[in-house]
Amino acid sequence: MSLPLIEALPGLRMYDARPLCPSTHPTVDVGRKRYIVIHESVTDPAADPVAIIKAISAYHQQYGGMGYNAIVDREGNLFYVGDWNTSRAGAAQVPWANEQSYHVCLLGRFDDAPPPLAQRIGARLICAHLDHALGRRLVVVPHCVWNVDLADPRSQWNTGCPGATWPRWLGDVMPTSAL
Ligand SMILES: [Zn+2]
Repeated sequence: MSLPLIEALPGLRMYDARPLCPSTHPTVDVGRKRYIVIHESVTDPAADPVAIIKAISAYHQQYGGMGYNAIVDREGNLFYVGDWNTSRAGAAQVPWANEQSYHVCLLGRFDDAPPPLAQRIGARLICAHLDHALGRRLVVVPHCVWNVDLADPRSQWNTGCPGATWPRWLGDVMPTSAL
């Protein structure tokens, strides 16, 4: 990996991919952060993660830039893609949710099978370190928790993210140790 490894949170080393992800997302007070939203990328699991990160960043330029703070590949490599103290557009249907959320995206698609164990553990490490950095427990939720059109599952305002299998593995991402 050609990206530099940095300490993105105390004790948490991540590849710094922020230079690959220009954005205009506004700075927010992290005291208002309440949630960690888990996403899937819906990209080819075999693709090079850095190439995927560049492609996601390019696609998200229409929303102000990379919609996530962190990305985890299938081997558990962690990528820091958006400053923690910014609002990201990962839950664009619900703007207030973006201000109050960190966004963590797992590379791949999870309608048929859960993320590999290494990827689930990688996401959990990020969640645990965010909790420790803030000194309080954040609520880990699937992106689809923000679906607003409950009457129509196929509404354009709804999402299947992070994949149909999420009820089977989201608990693995949640930190369980005491703060
Ligand atoms: Zn999502």
